[in-house]
Amino acid sequence: MTSPELTESVRQNGKERSLSNHTESTNPYELALQNFEAAADLLELNESDRAEIRAPERTLIVNVPVRMNDGSIRSFEGYRVQHSTARGPAKGGIRFHPGVTLDEVRALAMWMTWKCAVVNVPFGGGKGGVTCNPKEMRPEEIERLTRRYTSAILPIIGPDKDIPAPDVYTNAQVMAWIMDTYSMTRGHLVPGVVTGKPISLGGSLGRSEATARGVFHTIEAACQHLRFSLKGARVVIQGFGNAGSIAANLIDSAQAEVIAVSDSKGCVYNAHGLHIPKLMTHKEKTGSVVGFSGAEPITPEELLALPCDILIPAALENAITHTNAEKVRAKVVAEAANGPLTPEADAVLDELGVFVIPDILCNAGGVTVSYYEWVQNHQHISWDLNEVNSRLEAVMSRSFHEVLETSQERKTNMRTAANILAIRRVVDAAKLRGLYP
Ligand code: GLU
Repeated sequence: MTSPELTESVRQNGKERSLSNHTESTNPYELALQNFEAAADLLELNESDRAEIRAPERTLIVNVPVRMNDGSIRSFEGYRVQHSTARGPAKGGIRFHPGVTLDEVRALAMWMTWKCAVVNVPFGGGKGGVTCNPKEMRPEEIERLTRRYTSAILPIIGPDKDIPAPDVYTNAQVMAWIMDTYSMTRGHLVPGVVTGKPISLGGSLGRSEATARGVFHTIEAACQHLRFSLKGARVVIQGFGNAGSIAANLIDSAQAEVIAVSDSKGCVYNAHGLHIPKLMTHKEKTGSVVGFSGAEPITPEELLALPCDILIPAALENAITHTNAEKVRAKVVAEAANGPLTPEADAVLDELGVFVIPDILCNAGGVTVSYYEWVQNHQHISWDLNEVNSRLEAVMSRSFHEVLETSQERKTNMRTAANILAIRRVVDAAKLRGLYP
């Protein structure tokens, strides 16, 4: 990986660590596998157990031709990966983003398997994506893309097989189109084929805020564990989409100070705390946090290096790598995004004594309420918001403490503990089911 002359090593806290001048892989699937093997080593899993649950069960690559508004036809590449159905139907979002690759989707699918196992919802893991830039497309073009992609993956999805949901740059409207395309093909309405639907089409109350609410509950639990108050804490958020913006709101309501946020266009900072409701209005009107009057602009590098109590990466993978991890000045890193830290960044933050709430625990509120939506669809009932939120809070708190106990027993960080807990549950399910045929 690195040539000896380029690598400088340091010994710190008894651990050898290389500094700069080397390239760390940013391939999410390679990184997901690294974390898997590390946890499997601690569980002393043999190679046949690992092999059974490591590789995705099914990988589908599809071509998605779309008639654009100017009359031309463009072809996009799409994927759906079912990593595991050992504990239940595959479950996971669909991402529309120019950076989508097969390896990214494979990693995200694997993380969904572990995520569902950590919070103990009876689902396996899957993920889908189309390599496209919805920001440069008209709504009608996105609808045609969604419907054609849905028809291409239709043979492998279904309410008891594989249930998509929103992810980066997809939303309730996209879920409505998926549900409609699936239902028209089957000849009857099938609401349970997707979650994160509009409420009027069988979506669950509380689903759109669920990821952020779950992040918030794990932060509350971490503050309690580390004995500092969320009230008055200084918070930095990278990413102002569904997870980041709603998390900002919840944190603001808890009287913590959100001092900086960013989105794909830039970052804003106010040492005395940003006015979150006004910032939300500004983002709604202009499409970005950039240019917000109650703040000054800063660079993405400066944002991640701000001294704060809680840093929330809520954007994409690899936000913090070996090159910038050393600059982090937070007590807690709460991973609202999937895979925002590389394993090397993890090691650096460990040494710095930063408490990391790992993605598969921190952002599991989304899939937890997806599970509630699916249960409501199957039973043809709807729960009130209070029921959804109180169940979610109980699950997040229980899961946080289970991971914390595992980390204390095993003397590992929270990520390794979450992986151990999750992988154990998946291996147990696979073993009990036995090998077919
Ligand atoms: N895309 C979300 C995630 O990464 C939600 C998945 C779901 O609800 O199925 O967890």
